[in-house]
Amino acid sequence: MSFFSTRGGSCVTASQAILRGLAPDGGLFVPAMFPQVSLGEIADLGQMPYPQRARDILARYLEDFSSREIEEAVSAAYSPDRFDDPAIAPLKPLDDQTWVLELFHGPTLAFKDMALQLLPHLTTLSARKNGEQREVSILVATSGDTGKAALEGFRDVPGTSCTVFYPLDGVSDVQRLQMVTTGGGNTHVIAVKGNFDDAQTGVKALFSSAEFAAEMDRRGRVLSSANSINFGRLVPQVVYYFSAYADLVARGAVRCGDPVNFCVPTGNFGNILAAYYAHQMGLPVGRLICASNRNNVLTDFFTSGIYSTHRLFFKTKSPSMDILVSSNLERLLFEAADRDGELVKTWMRLLKDCGSYSVGDQRREWMESVFWGGCADDNATLAEIGTRFHQDHYLMDTHTAVASNVLRQYRQAKNDPTPTVLVSTASPYKFSRDVLSGIAGTAAAEHLDAFACSAELEKRSGVPMPDQVRRLRDLPIRHRAECEVDGMGQAVLDAFT
Ligand SMILES: *Cc1c(COP(=O)(O)O)cnc(C)c1O
Repeated sequence: MSFFSTRGGSCVTASQAILRGLAPDGGLFVPAMFPQVSLGEIADLGQMPYPQRARDILARYLEDFSSREIEEAVSAAYSPDRFDDPAIAPLKPLDDQTWVLELFHGPTLAFKDMALQLLPHLTTLSARKNGEQREVSILVATSGDTGKAALEGFRDVPGTSCTVFYPLDGVSDVQRLQMVTTGGGNTHVIAVKGNFDDAQTGVKALFSSAEFAAEMDRRGRVLSSANSINFGRLVPQVVYYFSAYADLVARGAVRCGDPVNFCVPTGNFGNILAAYYAHQMGLPVGRLICASNRNNVLTDFFTSGIYSTHRLFFKTKSPSMDILVSSNLERLLFEAADRDGELVKTWMRLLKDCGSYSVGDQRREWMESVFWGGCADDNATLAEIGTRFHQDHYLMDTHTAVASNVLRQYRQAKNDPTPTVLVSTASPYKFSRDVLSGIAGTAAAEHLDAFACSAELEKRSGVPMPDQVRRLRDLPIRHRAECEVDGMGQAVLDAFT
């Protein structure tokens, strides 16, 4: 399988796409075609443990990896000592037509672990395959969860280092503590005085700077990306959509071949794009419901066909979805443009120069046949947490609650009875204060620190607190660096001295 850039250029192998992250023309790597999975093969997945499901799907894309390499990588990544549920990505019933796909059972309690536990294995294998002698330096911009997941994934992996930038005031207490307490001899954590888009734009600029690449090369290092623009992040996420569907079939909840909807809390568009890729590979998908918070640029895009960043940026209670420029949307645009890289290039230039572009009515209608966009603000999010807890006895985090509320809106608007998988992206204990407010009112969380909120949440919900949260209180702070938005490159170089 070869990979192209969404902006028309390049033809590389899977391992080269993973190692480079971003294509040289600034585009994202996309597979030359979507390998097909038959209904029989999908049903068979239901009888396999998760690592084997992953091996089956990954092998179809990673053609320059041996089956032995893939097998060892997935067994190491999805092992019982890293995930606290033997199913890895368990599917739990929520109500008559809805199941929750829980993607937060990994070491950092967010769905990013599903990809970032595997990516370091794929990265080091890719480096070896391509004769790369330099140290692979991972650079990450995070809205909260990617950072810790990348740090945990790459911590002490030989031949790599991992530097994370997070927005100074844009992450939750638990998220920040998780990052700044990270151990390992090859990890760096730096707070940027700006928002997530500033951090992401800064990292992208470093990736496209020849000067910075030369500086790094002089230090014996080569840049690589663990952000969701990397195909190595995307492909492990395709697996759990097949896995969820196969579980529904195995339980007799749907007949193999019948459509299932997926409702996904969305930020950078990586998670839901993986669902779209699964659909293109033959997974019977009805609708992909794209849930946003008050930063509803995607909702407007799916309704109007116009992507516009001329809007205010809001900090919300679902910070991992506080994004104005959803990078992975470019991969959907590539498909919407009938894989015309020149057209994508034009849209991306308009976005950069004018802050907006329009895909036109025909392409908007094409997207509408699969996607539906909706949004929920903070009040609706907290109310949803309360409703799901008191009515359905399910405790969900703020991001999942955004999606749950949007699903409610979708069903009201479309009267669609299709069974639906609600994708849950974080443990409620990652956002204890807001989840506690959701089930017990804001007064319940007042005057409590982050740890007291978690303890109170455990008491009131009866859902056990994960060990990772309990231990956080006693870990020493190891990372205190801060930098200005325009000082990120220097901060990376300083980190290595
Ligand atoms: C990253 C993240 C999201 C958004 O996922 P994308 O792939 O960026 O759309 C949603 N919820 C949580 C908890 C996350 O960590």
